[in-house]
Amino acid sequence: MIFYKTDDEIELLRLSNMLVARTHGEVAKLMKPGVSTIKLDKIAEEFIRDNGGIPGFLNYGGFPNTLCISINEQVVHGLPSKRELREGDIVSVDCGAILNGFYGDSAYTYGIGQISAKNEKLLRVTKESLYKGIENAMVGKRLGDVSYAIQEHVTKEGYSIVREMVGHGVGRKLHEEPQVPNYGKRGQGIKLHSGLVIAIEPMINMGTREIVQLEDGWTMATKDRKNSAHFEHTIAVRNGKADILSSFEFIEEVLNKNS
Ligand code: MG
Ligand code: MG
Repeated sequence: MIFYKTDDEIELLRLSNMLVARTHGEVAKLMKPGVSTIKLDKIAEEFIRDNGGIPGFLNYGGFPNTLCISINEQVVHGLPSKRELREGDIVSVDCGAILNGFYGDSAYTYGIGQISAKNEKLLRVTKESLYKGIENAMVGKRLGDVSYAIQEHVTKEGYSIVREMVGHGVGRKLHEEPQVPNYGKRGQGIKLHSGLVIAIEPMINMGTREIVQLEDGWTMATKDRKNSAHFEHTIAVRNGKADILSSFEFIEEVLNKNS
């Protein structure tokens, strides 16, 4: 069952997602060679709690941390640890928070220091594909139009799309219906109505689309160990144009200052 949100509920979801956005901004300041991923996790947890929120992923299905941090060939659900980031890594940071009973959910993949042109392109194309999906998330379209737009943009570059994990509805639960695949057919799937709030989150691989779970029982990685990227926004379907409830502005403020 799909829970369509009222305008008031969408404003609450915006607050949750803005807390996630500001948490990303705090993490972004530390995304440099030598930082351990557990340090990033602690900073995020503290920031969320200091601002009246609850980490959304912590204890979710038994997940032990606030952030999912997935490095290079890791796709999603990476566990924070003592591992330190290195120059040239690409690192997906996925953050969730609960505020006023509603979830925020957003992810960004960072390049650490100087990264290769190949990695740079993977990040750019994956992020572009997210916005192609968002452009189609409006009243009058169908869910398949969102999925197709993402697929079309990344496959023409020769990348592959993770199928086992998909975007999702967001509300009082982190994962609500409908599922939002990053591949699909135009004109298929449910009609998009105003008030549908979904997380769109392409997970895009340089090589094979196949993934495996690592021995920690959480981290998903590419089977061929080639790199993967992940960007995610939570959006509300509206007439004419989606309303993006999450934001990369605080991340990009930090990145632009550093460049
Ligand atoms: Mg997420
Ligand atoms: Mg998500």
